[in-house]
Amino acid sequence: MGIARRYAYVRAQVDEVCRAVGRDPAEVKLLAVSKTVDVPAVAEAIAAGGHAFGENRPDQIVPKQAAYPNEEWHFIGNIQSRRIKDIVPASTLIHSVYQASHLPKIDAAAQAAGKVQDILVEVNVSGEESKSGLEPHAVRAFIEEADAYDHIRVCGLMTMAPRYDEETAEKTFSGLAALRNELDGLVLPHHGELVLSELSMGMSEDWQCAIKHGATIVRIGRAIFSDEFEPPED
Ligand SMILES: *Cc1c(COP(=O)(O)O)cnc(C)c1O
Repeated sequence: MGIARRYAYVRAQVDEVCRAVGRDPAEVKLLAVSKTVDVPAVAEAIAAGGHAFGENRPDQIVPKQAAYPNEEWHFIGNIQSRRIKDIVPASTLIHSVYQASHLPKIDAAAQAAGKVQDILVEVNVSGEESKSGLEPHAVRAFIEEADAYDHIRVCGLMTMAPRYDEETAEKTFSGLAALRNELDGLVLPHHGELVLSELSMGMSEDWQCAIKHGATIVRIGRAIFSDEFEPPED
């Protein structure tokens, strides 16, 4: 029962941090990143109250979504063009969109699946070369480009902070929030007023800081699914 216990512990911690910074815990979704575990492990997190899961590979999200179709499945990984047709039908939300060439393919796959695909734009706030995503100054033009597609809805922004560096994490998360505030409410020719309600930021080691800066989705893997993280005995 390690997973169920860790899930419950992380959810309680998220609620506590929300209250400490004056936010409503209901505003923050705990995305359990199940990319390293198998289908039965997901069941343990569901038993503990988990309803939203993150995956970074098409080969993982497709069978897991099929096994638990009533839960939310979010795609958070690198997108390969040729796998978009597999990713879209399985995904509630795709967090990692930043390449313009993917937009027509996402739109076509969403149309074929009879849905509008919710997406987040991935932003490389820290400017680290190893990180994927758009530079902040390029996000507005990208959103304007996405506006042309009927079956795509941009709902927010996503970022990853460099690991083990609290000061940079702080700057990264506040930078993403500032960008959201700047672009939210933009009136687009096709979709009308842009509502950037989601900020996907924060992982096992930096989610507290992300919540402080307005995260609405924290993506937590190891703190739920790995034995290296042990909640204190109660
Ligand atoms: C793996 C992953 C996470 C979760 O990371 P942990 O450190 O295990 O919490 C979050 N976001 C993305 C994009 C990931 O690939």
